Amino acid sequence: MTNYHFTTTKAHVVLQGGEMPEAYIPEALETTSVHPFKGNMDEERLEALIQRYGAEKIAFVRMEAGTNLIGGQPFSLANLAAVREICQRHGLLLVLDASLLADNLHFIKEREAACQKLSIREITRRVAELVDVIYFSARKLGCARGGGICTNSEELYGRLRELLPLYEGFLTYGGMSVREMEAIAVGLEETMDEDMISQGPQFTAYMVRELEKRGVPVVTPPGGLGCHLNAREFLDHLPQEQYPAGALAAALYLVSGIRGMERGTLSEARDAQGREVLADLELLRLAVPRRVYSLSQLSCAVDRITWLYQNRRLIGGLRFVDEPKTLRFFLGRLAPLTEWPAELARRFSQDLSKL
Ligand SMILES: *Cc1c(COP(=O)(O)O)cnc(C)c1O
Repeated sequence: MTNYHFTTTKAHVVLQGGEMPEAYIPEALETTSVHPFKGNMDEERLEALIQRYGAEKIAFVRMEAGTNLIGGQPFSLANLAAVREICQRHGLLLVLDASLLADNLHFIKEREAACQKLSIREITRRVAELVDVIYFSARKLGCARGGGICTNSEELYGRLRELLPLYEGFLTYGGMSVREMEAIAVGLEETMDEDMISQGPQFTAYMVRELEKRGVPVVTPPGGLGCHLNAREFLDHLPQEQYPAGALAAALYLVSGIRGMERGTLSEARDAQGREVLADLELLRLAVPRRVYSLSQLSCAVDRITWLYQNRRLIGGLRFVDEPKTLRFFLGRLAPLTEWPAELARRFSQDLSKL
């Protein structure tokens, strides 16, 4: 059970013969919204899923902070506490994917009235006390390399300890260098600073609002992680089978050199019969990591995206020419369905020469 799936996590669950049913709230899939916590888990849906599958069939309930695939949307502390209560009642393990926790901490402080007086450190402590296991990619949480698994259960710790030398490395270093572990420690400490973690979301919000003013379809409210273009609306002339979010990524790169990340049907896997699984949302993520970009770089991106939006009908679809069986979006190769990239480039140089 999860508030929303993540690509690699789901691939692992499926590899083990499992499924990953989702219990997101209806607002999660509304690209234009004012709901402050679109990453919340729907408590009734969670209860219903537990009834349907039976608690003994459920390995864990997973909450993802700053839900990646639906536009970096946070959950509230109150929602996490409610999920905790449900898990406790059914004897279920509660696991937190904290890779994008920094943004989520900021949004809890900013958007949740009951938490406005709490420090980031206090909110982190409350989050940690509600869950049994926290795992994270330190590439995001802490801006270092590697990652970690934390638990407050001695029993779980004992079980995990046995797996470590098999899959990661010895208990004391888990396959990481000491330098990396020190970098993670510094990065996590920095994450406790509201001025530090608010910078990314503030820059993201700026970009979202500027694009909104120009009529470009973006995910609202602005989340963490980055600005998300709504490719389904941007390219409403393309069917999902032609990978609109992937096509938008390619088109934007052609006219700006800006590299976005497809978060749509390309990021899904085919079903057991080899059929395409259409994604709930077709998004292009333009990540805004903290302390990396200047505001003028974001303005430049807004300018290029606006030009592309005005010329969007030139953008065509894509097809796979090399489609890996698992996690195809990482290493797969695609080709345009028509000569649209050349056409787009021509229009681009035409417009540029007029300046
Ligand atoms: C990025 C991400 C991961 C995976 O991180 P890696 O460092 O690439 O292994 C896992 N979960 C979520 C929610 C993420 O956003």
